Amino acid sequence: MVSGKSYEEDNLLLLSGLQHFAFCKRQWALIHLEQQWSDNVRTYEGDLLHRKVDNPSIRETRGKVIISRAMPLISSSLGITGTADVVEFHSAEQEDLPEYVTRLTGRKGLWKPFPVEYKRGKPKGGDCDEVQLCAQAMCLEEMLNVKIEMGSLFYGQQERRYMVAFTSQLRESVESYLLEMRKLLNSGTTPGGTYSKACKSCSLIDLCLPKLSTCSVEQYLESYLGEEL
Ligand code: SF4
Repeated sequence: MVSGKSYEEDNLLLLSGLQHFAFCKRQWALIHLEQQWSDNVRTYEGDLLHRKVDNPSIRETRGKVIISRAMPLISSSLGITGTADVVEFHSAEQEDLPEYVTRLTGRKGLWKPFPVEYKRGKPKGGDCDEVQLCAQAMCLEEMLNVKIEMGSLFYGQQERRYMVAFTSQLRESVESYLLEMRKLLNSGTTPGGTYSKACKSCSLIDLCLPKLSTCSVEQYLESYLGEEL
């Protein structure tokens, strides 16, 4: 890892927070610094999708693929912990290089890990989902002493997977977001919000009131109530 640092167990950040942070720093701070959370239809549907996926009792084999669900993840060098929705282990091919394959307890042969993250809806634009998936891969690399090149994002609304390459640029984004998160955590400051298209689908919009930061209270109430005061 870039810093060569190792974080203690009581100083780990939640991996899922990376997605919040990359989506909106204020959203991350409201959830992780101020412990505020608000369900909306999107988070509820997302929870349902995850409940189907996050069932640790399910571990199945489909042909040459072992599927592990709700796999606990940790990286002491990144200082994060979390859960992978699904990690597929693909049976290694002859041409696979040794650094990309690993052994699994109770299974014969060599296997290539391939993380899959399930999302409701469709791709959002921005890198928040890719960053979260890449952080999962980086945890797996550290845990299994293996290199992982690819994973995929599955979007419930489209019912299709998108392949994600874990490029050095994406890995650097993970590390730089984590550094920023730690700085904000230490400062204990919640950044201000700026209203954007993303706010329409944000479950915290009623707590955050992002339009207030860009207009007067009167203008805000006017836009909210749809009438002149
Ligand atoms: S409403 Fe907008 S600014 Fe506020 S937390 Fe959500 S995305 Fe961020």
